[in-house]
Amino acid sequence: MHFNSRYPQLPARLYHQQMPLPLKGAKAGHFNAALAEQLQWSEEDKAQWVEICSGQKTFAEFEPLAMVYAGHQFGQWAGQLGDGRGLLIAQILDQQGQTIDLHLKGAGATPYSRMGDGRAVLRSVIREYLAGHALNCLGVASSNAVGFTSSAQGVQREKLEPGAMLLRTSDCHIRFGHFEWINQYQPELLPEFTQKCIEWHYPECLQAEQPILAFVSQVIQRTALMIAQWQLLGFAHGVMNTDNLNITGSTLDFGPYGFMERFRPNWINNHSDYQGRYTYQQQPSIGHWNLWMWLNNLVALCPENYDKEQWKQDLAECLEHYEPTFLEHYRNGLNQKMGLPRFHKDSFDCAMAFLRILQSEQLDYTQSFLRLQNREYDAIKDDCLDRRQFESFLSLYNTIREHQNLAELDGAMALANPHYILRNHMAQKAIELAGRDDFSEVDRLFKLLSQPYLKQRDLEQAEDLAPLPSDVPEVMVSCSS
Ligand code: AMP
Ligand code: MG
Repeated sequence: MHFNSRYPQLPARLYHQQMPLPLKGAKAGHFNAALAEQLQWSEEDKAQWVEICSGQKTFAEFEPLAMVYAGHQFGQWAGQLGDGRGLLIAQILDQQGQTIDLHLKGAGATPYSRMGDGRAVLRSVIREYLAGHALNCLGVASSNAVGFTSSAQGVQREKLEPGAMLLRTSDCHIRFGHFEWINQYQPELLPEFTQKCIEWHYPECLQAEQPILAFVSQVIQRTALMIAQWQLLGFAHGVMNTDNLNITGSTLDFGPYGFMERFRPNWINNHSDYQGRYTYQQQPSIGHWNLWMWLNNLVALCPENYDKEQWKQDLAECLEHYEPTFLEHYRNGLNQKMGLPRFHKDSFDCAMAFLRILQSEQLDYTQSFLRLQNREYDAIKDDCLDRRQFESFLSLYNTIREHQNLAELDGAMALANPHYILRNHMAQKAIELAGRDDFSEVDRLFKLLSQPYLKQRDLEQAEDLAPLPSDVPEVMVSCSS
């Protein structure tokens, strides 16, 4: 491994150094060998991955640490939070020279654990492992994981569950909530911290006339892109608190996430979200809200000789680009999924008509786009109660596509419509088997989700392709398990 230990350069108030507390009897769960390769793991480290992923082996080059941050949870100021059950155990260079954090989740209590036990359960570790992999392979910036271990040592939740640890990777664990903590508790650290964030994550902004404004614009653009991609894939993060969004716009901390099956804009997978704050359709506006909360912390960074009101206005102006940036990515992406030309005046309306059908007929989001792509129009129509609505959509669709380069549009569709997403019941089956020390289903899903845009007849199972019947109760998922 090639270390680039930079977080410890920050003032010591911003973290707490401590060693992981291993779970007893750690066993191999699953290992992402391709990612370890990409991260330039040595053969020795690969051979010792179980020890590393269970907190038994740490690196001499990096003293593990828990970061402190704060946050707004479900719209309310929550005060100090921080890594309550995870430790940064290394920062290493990947094959592209990018610095990647290795973060061990479930590594024991820290000063930031509040009432928690510092642990993670196998169920939530497998869900995070498979979803991070799925998102990366779908082309969405996201945390990933080198592997996970499970343990016979039980962890108490509603019932006693097997404990586990996840060795998560991310290009950044600095959250909007880091800025909230600093602003609230140690405001004098803000200039230095912000400067480091820019140097580490947006060095090109250092050349701008106002590096902070350039940085802010970049964070806003990346967040808008990430959320547009979530919407296009039907991904609901589940807990978009300000402590769960990072400054590089890569998906992080998506415990109670879900990939939407039947199209329901007001769908939420997180059963702890009683008010529906983080439903699928709310995500773009919550992204805006979170950015707004974040920007409030940067008001104090008004440069010398700069009018304070003007500075506030400049920050607010950066945020005005969020919505158009999101919409541009979303519209282009939706047209691509639909096989509709980007610049035709009726394309977006036509796409909306299709989504209305999916909603009123409760059709599967992923499968319906695939059927459209395969021109299985009758199959969609047969699933509709209101067939006339579908026929009128189809006639508009065909009219728009007339005289277009269909080979090009269809080729683009194939790159935007996955065959496989991680449906809750798929993850659930893998979790149940893993509870009996059988990781074969984790492995099958890992391979299947490695190439989501490719039909894999030899690997797929019928249940991967469609939602469960609507009378089967949904899998319950909640926060912080
Ligand atoms: P989350 O919503 O899972 O991102 O967690 C919110 C906050 O609670 C973070 O500061 C976590 O570190 C902390 N937390 C969640 N679960 C636990 C746990 N079992 N033990 C200690 N801290 C936890
Ligand atoms: Mg979190």
